[in-house]
Amino acid sequence: MDALFAVQDEDVIRSQLEHRRAHLPESAAVLAAETARVVTTTEFDRLGLERLDHIRRQHRYEGEVAAVETRLAELDGKLYGGAITSPKEATSLQDEMGRLRQRQDDLEGQVLEVMEIVEPLDAGLDALTGIGLAQDEAITAALAALLEVETDIESEIVASGKRRVDAVSKVPAEVLDRYEQVHLSFGSSAVVRFSGTDCSGCPYSMPAMEADRVKSMTSGTLTDCSECGRLVVR
Ligand SMILES: [Zn+2]
Repeated sequence: MDALFAVQDEDVIRSQLEHRRAHLPESAAVLAAETARVVTTTEFDRLGLERLDHIRRQHRYEGEVAAVETRLAELDGKLYGGAITSPKEATSLQDEMGRLRQRQDDLEGQVLEVMEIVEPLDAGLDALTGIGLAQDEAITAALAALLEVETDIESEIVASGKRRVDAVSKVPAEVLDRYEQVHLSFGSSAVVRFSGTDCSGCPYSMPAMEADRVKSMTSGTLTDCSECGRLVVR
């Protein structure tokens, strides 16, 4: 009957190993590392979009500056190209050029303002990139740690399985069938040893008559406890 207890021992070991595998702190660590990475990515994307808005505005201003410069060059050519005949026309040209230069100054001031806004955003994006890289490394390390402990558990499960096969080969098929049935209800205490007076699996004491029945059997005999239904080895 020792072999039957060995089978039960391996079943207990296996369920403990599976429980451990399902609740590994290393799994929680991977999840935490991945969650932190998602937060960084989200923040990076948000800042990136904010930056893009400003950059588009900057390009619009720069486009306008270029248009103003073109127009100024045109007017400058007109003014000094000898095509102007009256002082009034020259004055009006100079007025327009003055307005355009003012507009150019304003636009350039706005470009500078945008650049001042974008600068800290760039620094923020750089910092987030660095954080993200460190977090990627942390995820890789956490996954490696998880894989290592899972591999260990897996090899323990395989070893336990081999020992179980070994033990099973020493248990009669009919006894093993009874064990498998009872195991479904009682798990780690499907088969128990008779204490001399008790089933040792029963929640309450074994009735005296039942205890006497078991006591009268030869040591090593397998029977069913009529009280709780476990397998009892005399
Ligand atoms: Zn019992």
